[in-house]
Amino acid sequence: MVRPLKNMEEVAVIGGGLAGLSAALHGARLGRLVTLFEGSGLYGGLVATVDEVDGLGVAGHHSGQAVAMHLLEQAKKQGVQVVEWPVVRVELGERIALTTEDGKTCHPEAVIVASGAGLRRLGVPGEEKFTGRGVSRCATCDGGFYRGRDVAVIGTGDAAVTEALVLAKTSRTVTMVCRSPIKAKPIYVDRLAARDNVRFAWDSEVVEVMGENSVAGLRLRNVRTGNESTLEVAGVFPFIGVEPNAAFLPPGLLNNDGTVRADASTASTDPRLFAAGAVREGYGGNVAQAMAEGIAAAEAAAKLLAGRG
Ligand SMILES: Cc1cc2nc3c(=O)[nH]c(=O)nc-3n(C[C@H](O)[C@H](O)[C@H](O)COP(=O)(O)OP(=O)(O)OC[C@H]3O[C@@H](n4cnc5c(N)ncnc54)[C@H](O)[C@@H]3O)c2cc1C
Repeated sequence: MVRPLKNMEEVAVIGGGLAGLSAALHGARLGRLVTLFEGSGLYGGLVATVDEVDGLGVAGHHSGQAVAMHLLEQAKKQGVQVVEWPVVRVELGERIALTTEDGKTCHPEAVIVASGAGLRRLGVPGEEKFTGRGVSRCATCDGGFYRGRDVAVIGTGDAAVTEALVLAKTSRTVTMVCRSPIKAKPIYVDRLAARDNVRFAWDSEVVEVMGENSVAGLRLRNVRTGNESTLEVAGVFPFIGVEPNAAFLPPGLLNNDGTVRADASTASTDPRLFAAGAVREGYGGNVAQAMAEGIAAAEAAAKLLAGRG
């Protein structure tokens, strides 16, 4: 049965990552009735488990969760309503219809899509079986299980390198499995080079996560030669990029890679819908940009509503 949600007629923000929280807070500050939808209940999105977020532009060390909870508190104080259900569908008819997983529908006048992205899976045998039993996507949460043991990080970007740096503090060795050259920021690469327990498996991709009851190692393939080898590790941390969370939108709004077609001003191809942060095409990939885009989207939505009187 479809039941209406109350008092949600103005701006709906989808996603409680840093883009969405910034959008919701700013929209409410502009005097708009804002509802924030967060599907996982874990605010902060991709940085929710990051101990020290880099590039926030404020002094001191701040965890992703601390930043998110601060924004959430401020947003609630400004009157933002929070709904802890995933949005499963947005229809852009004459009236917008936004439906959550619990079967409720509301009709906001503007929608800010800030649903970000999820970490991409390796898609190899053993990955699903050992998720939570040796395969992890959070060094801060699970690194302690591998104290004094050998682990592997898969990937070459900022996320892979920063997670490897966390693991290198406690694990015996960290092997970076790299299919291509490292593309993380030089500051992170320098920190990695200063660690004497970090190794590299170059030109390599994972073919299988091996083990009986827990992870025993990885089967790797050299992408140049095709030769296969085994790497003995107890923990595997894949960070091979992200995939946008936007399947709830009409396909016409999306690119082939699943990102929302929206320009840097956050305007999409529908004048009532804006996209901010990691879900948007052309997003640059850092939290400062995600937050700035959230604010820009809130301003654009408020302007649209003001124009309607
Ligand atoms: C391990 C790691 C470390 C990083 N460290 C840094 C760093 O130190 N500095 C930096 O600048 N960048 C860092 N990044 C990049 C940064 O995390 C992202 O660029 C930024 O967080 C994107 O924010 P976002 O709000 O757009 O999306 P996300 O963080 O992905 O947030 C999206 C939110 O939307 C919610 N959601 C998704 N679908 C739905 C739905 N259907 N309904 C309701 N809610 C939904 C999700 O649960 C999530 O909370 C890191 C990334 C990773 C993976």
